[in-house]
Amino acid sequence: MIFQSILIDSDITKNAGLLDDYEEHLDELADLLVESASDERINSGALCDCGAGPVIMQCHDCTEYRATCVECFKTKHLNNPLHWAEVWQTSDGFFVRHDISMLNHTIQLGHSGALCPSSTGSRKFTIVHHSGVHATRVAFCGCHENPPNKTRQLMRARLFPATMKETKSAFTFTVLKECHLHNLESKKASYNYMGALRRLTDNSFTADDPYSNFLRSIRFWDYLTMLKRLGQMHGIDRLLPHRPEGNLVLYCPACPEPGFNSEPNASSVKTPEFLRHLNQIQRTLDGNFQCNQYKKNSNPDDVSLCKGKAHFPVDRDYRAYLKENPGSTEKSTCNYLKAVNKQDKKKFKNMAITGTVNAQCSHVFILSSVDLHYGEKCVIELCET
Ligand SMILES: [Zn+2]
Ligand SMILES: [Zn+2]
Ligand SMILES: [Zn+2]
Ligand SMILES: [Zn+2]
Repeated sequence: MIFQSILIDSDITKNAGLLDDYEEHLDELADLLVESASDERINSGALCDCGAGPVIMQCHDCTEYRATCVECFKTKHLNNPLHWAEVWQTSDGFFVRHDISMLNHTIQLGHSGALCPSSTGSRKFTIVHHSGVHATRVAFCGCHENPPNKTRQLMRARLFPATMKETKSAFTFTVLKECHLHNLESKKASYNYMGALRRLTDNSFTADDPYSNFLRSIRFWDYLTMLKRLGQMHGIDRLLPHRPEGNLVLYCPACPEPGFNSEPNASSVKTPEFLRHLNQIQRTLDGNFQCNQYKKNSNPDDVSLCKGKAHFPVDRDYRAYLKENPGSTEKSTCNYLKAVNKQDKKKFKNMAITGTVNAQCSHVFILSSVDLHYGEKCVIELCET
């Protein structure tokens, strides 16, 4: 106990020391913060290093960007067109942030930033990046195909199209990946993530709201990521033919799969009797009656992308099964125990889904799941042997 208290004291002391360091440098930090938003070369009449124009451009997304003229800014950002352009307003005396398209620049696809000799022309296009929502301009390459395959050109530029036909907006792979990780790490909803991106754009919500497009795109992004990571994009079924075709379940690497990570019939043939328990496959069922969903308006035409190949069964088939097996209506006969009889009436009132049950191995790799629809009941089935 004494040892533990010494540890805690030393932690506090160390942290307090670091805070003191900050306080000592507070004035210096404040000066440097203000300095980072300015540039001594701007508004001094200095010419850009190229000699062609005044220094009026700054970029706060680049590291130590040396202020330039407009043309040099465009040249330096051919492969970073989603950096915000900070343009000095000489008459007003401050920077205004623009998308690069406001500098008469178009993002050319298919040529690593260079111009295309057969470009399809500049068109308005919204790109959502982790720096914000960019109302910008894009030109598709027309060198090899006319009309161009826009989806292909966007995807090769690491831009995920918001729609498959006549797309006018896209999300960078970075933004989709970041939102997915934010959701996994902090349960942040896409709505909140989009809200933050709109604030990053101008902090007063004048940017277009890409939320509805984003919901659709990230759903497909997550599904494609799952296909990739589980090997389905690389034909894993050819190598593991003993598993269900097209499956999207992460199999437990520790559980024995005879013929794959253990010898066929290893438990009965080669394993000594006292070690046979190591080759056991242990499966358990675990239910959660707090994982509910209340009844709400949802899209009746919504589709499942996994189609029963991941953890949950095909909803239509499962509902048909439930119709045939509605469960027990048996009431508790105990005079004093009313809790069981009240389960459906109160606890699960107005719920569309009353819980979830998982089947998992002893290493807690989930094999399959189902939604519960009938609340919590106790059913005892007697089997004749
Ligand atoms: Zn930059
Ligand atoms: Zn220049
Ligand atoms: Zn081209
Ligand atoms: Zn396992």
